[in-house]
Amino acid sequence: SSRISARIAGITPSATLAVDAKAKELKAQGRPVIGFGAGQPDFPTPDYVVEAAAKAVHDRANHGYTAAGGLPVLKEAIAAKTLRDTGFAIEPSQVLVTNGGKQAVYSAFATLCDPGDEVLLLAPYWTTYPESIKLAGGVPVQVTADESTGYRVTVEQLEAARTDRTKVLLFNSPSNPTGAVYSREQIEAIGKWALEHGIWVITDEIYEHLTYDGVENHSMPVVVPELADQTLVLNGVAKTYSMTGWRVGWIAGPKDVIKAATSYQSHLCGNVSNVAQRAALAAVAGPLDVVAEMRAAFDARRKKIVSLLSDIPGVTCPTPEGAFYAYPSFKELLGKEIRGEKPADTLELADLMLREADVAAVPGEAFGTPGYFRFSYALAESDLVEGVERIAALLSEAK
Ligand code: PLP
Repeated sequence: SSRISARIAGITPSATLAVDAKAKELKAQGRPVIGFGAGQPDFPTPDYVVEAAAKAVHDRANHGYTAAGGLPVLKEAIAAKTLRDTGFAIEPSQVLVTNGGKQAVYSAFATLCDPGDEVLLLAPYWTTYPESIKLAGGVPVQVTADESTGYRVTVEQLEAARTDRTKVLLFNSPSNPTGAVYSREQIEAIGKWALEHGIWVITDEIYEHLTYDGVENHSMPVVVPELADQTLVLNGVAKTYSMTGWRVGWIAGPKDVIKAATSYQSHLCGNVSNVAQRAALAAVAGPLDVVAEMRAAFDARRKKIVSLLSDIPGVTCPTPEGAFYAYPSFKELLGKEIRGEKPADTLELADLMLREADVAAVPGEAFGTPGYFRFSYALAESDLVEGVERIAALLSEAK
């Protein structure tokens, strides 16, 4: 038999991390690389959160295991925060605290999927989704939307992809990588469709607070309340409070599913770090001022990057309404000659942009849709401008 299990050997290495690794390598060689790859806010964690954690470290009450599902006081605060922010009323027993939103994704699929169960995966999708579906034995069924609809799929598309093996719809709004935010009407239509066909919904709301132009985030089980008994809401502190490294996320859902997922977690990792949970408590029980400040900064950069990218001939960049990513199409530039090369896809173009312009962006191949790039605008505005200008200069040579 082979050394590595088929299950683990089948994982696709993260293209996001590959671009990042190459960018870091070039940077280490002294090249002035500007990276648009980062999936994290470039702000520090708020002081009061850091202080709560520092205090928690010195209290020996926080030196042991917590309950597998999380500190009761944190689960209570998450339930209260969920009601405050989206209107979704849940009890603490409907919450499982996980090691980041990433583990929430993985545990949600592990808890819901039997081998062969199909999961509708809306593309462009976050890189981690298909891998966590497959690790759980599920089968990702890709449903793709393009820039013509602002990367939003329709109920008709979902219905066309539905089979008698469809168990779950994976929903993510605001979206990574496109920044698309579904309207209340669209969410209602999709939620009603899922309800009608007995399809579970996993809705990843980790970017809930990062929306712009007055657009609001709507939570599917609030818009379609009858759906609550077959919905898992995923969330975390990473993006809202600039706490990516603290690794705290959660699943909110029906009690039986949370109980099963908690039992799984008790064997998987025991519990999330006690101190990190204390930090997350300070975050979710506190105000939303910091996210308002971040949102304002992101919004200014969002407008800047969309206008700069749109000015590049051959690039089409819809205006994202949420998260901190722009997702332009570069399809018209593929196959053209640039510096003696003819990049045939966005993987090759990404490589060329990195070598010739010292700019790193993640190619659409990482998100199930070749022909596009994801640009994170979680970087200083001066770098953002310089980075896009360098790309524009390089691509102006295309013939
Ligand atoms: N969900 C989405 C859509 C994300 O983009 C991310 C992070 O990039 C996560 C979940 C998980 O974040 P974390 O594991 O840092 O909490």
